[in-house]
Amino acid sequence: MPQLTLLLYLTVMLTALGGFFLTGPDAWVAVLWQVAVGYLATAAIVIGARRNTSERAAWYCFAVGIFANSTGILVEAITASMTGSTGLPSVPSPADAFYLVLYPAFALGLALLIRKREARRDWGALVDATMIVAGLSLPAWIFIIAPTVGDQALSLAGQLVSIAYPVGDLMLAVMVIRLYLGTHHPRPRALWLMTGSLAAFLLADITWAVLHVLGQSPGDTAHRLIQVTSMLAYTMIGAAALHPSARQIAEQDRPPAGRLNIIMICLFTSAALIAPALLIFEVVQGRVTDGLAIAVGSIVMVLLVATRSSQLVRRLEQQATTIRAMSHTDDLTGLPNRRAWVIELPRAIERARRDGVPLSVAMLDMDHFKLFNDTHGHPAGDRLLTAAGAAWQQRLREVDYLARYGGEEFLVLLPDADGVRAGQVVDRLRSSTPLGQTFSAGVATWDGRETSDELVARADSALYTAKQTGRDRTVLALSPRTDLNGQYPAPARDR
Ligand code: GH3
Ligand code: MG
Ligand code: MG
Repeated sequence: MPQLTLLLYLTVMLTALGGFFLTGPDAWVAVLWQVAVGYLATAAIVIGARRNTSERAAWYCFAVGIFANSTGILVEAITASMTGSTGLPSVPSPADAFYLVLYPAFALGLALLIRKREARRDWGALVDATMIVAGLSLPAWIFIIAPTVGDQALSLAGQLVSIAYPVGDLMLAVMVIRLYLGTHHPRPRALWLMTGSLAAFLLADITWAVLHVLGQSPGDTAHRLIQVTSMLAYTMIGAAALHPSARQIAEQDRPPAGRLNIIMICLFTSAALIAPALLIFEVVQGRVTDGLAIAVGSIVMVLLVATRSSQLVRRLEQQATTIRAMSHTDDLTGLPNRRAWVIELPRAIERARRDGVPLSVAMLDMDHFKLFNDTHGHPAGDRLLTAAGAAWQQRLREVDYLARYGGEEFLVLLPDADGVRAGQVVDRLRSSTPLGQTFSAGVATWDGRETSDELVARADSALYTAKQTGRDRTVLALSPRTDLNGQYPAPARDR
């Protein structure tokens, strides 16, 4: 009854979240309330991991992160009551050690999930995620990290701990966006819940950080809202673990095809516009204080866009190559098809003209193939066509070119072979045809002047003669310019 547990869990948690506003001014009730929500979420993750998911270790990491983070609330309250301080806690405090465990724990969990679900590295998703987060990093740097670094009121340890929060947030943001982008549509509900949970953590952290930089204590309602946001984050990750679709997050997936849709392009464009927007903002204020950071941010963005573009171009080239190969290959036999043939024949004629050597074309048509199909079934006919193509290919030279012209008709291009030689080759093919199947063939030798179509038409009419005169034979096409001694005429340009 996994759904029932989830329902029960959500009811309890959402009631707790609503009830949190009703708790009185007693600070300890509020603290224990939050810690209890954190511990319930931890329990939910452990239960979910045990019965639901395919990547347990990742979920245990999340459980550790939530447990430590909510314990931090308790530690902070105890520290405050011991030191008798009120308002914002001094940094660093023992509670920070607990709060910060969330980042490495979640990073490890997300890394495990990403590694599990991707058989091959999806660099595209990584670059996409980095692009979005790189855009967000610049305001994070300008408004939160840089002021903290310059904060004279903080010790070095205090500065490092204060910076660890936004840096940790950015790191988790890259990873969760990375996981999200690497997932196929429709995305599992559990993934939505997980993303929502991290977004809530991010929101709470940003609010804290901004308040801290401004040196302000939040009002009572604002404070409660921030706390509820954190509790919502706990609740959502617990729900993600309990949701039946949690298993799918770690399931391997085909790489999503149409990921670069219009929404993504808008996101990247917005991310890329953050740096120039900040510059305009500072110019309008009359003081450009972060020129270097903005320039570096812009450079990083350009490099990321260039990387992504080259990835896309490479993928397009690969697809074009695949499509070209597919469009020139016959599905059934794997031989070149008619489309490939009409490209290859003029080239071969050109080579023959240049080198002054003969060139012959043989057209083959299975005898009474309809009967074969009627007797043995169409699939057996298919298999015979494939087997015949493979057997013939084996008997031909490397320079010869065998194509399926359509149905049960094949064409063979025989460079450097006159009609007599070509006739011998075709008879060799005849003996290698599987299941005693026979075919009729017409052979035409290029007359040094005619077009590809004319050459094929002569082979075709010779084939017709072969059919007319009893089948299972090869007929050489005559042409005004081919003498009966099999002598090949001089190339056209020499006349
Ligand atoms: P003949 O050429 O000796 O006059 O007799 P035929 O029975 O081969 O006659 P025709 O060439 O007119 O008919 C071709 C038959 O080949 C018709 C169709 O059933 C069969 N055929 C064509 N393409 C395929 C194919 O891809 N798979 C199979 N199994 N049969 C095919
Ligand atoms: Mg036919
Ligand atoms: Mg036939």
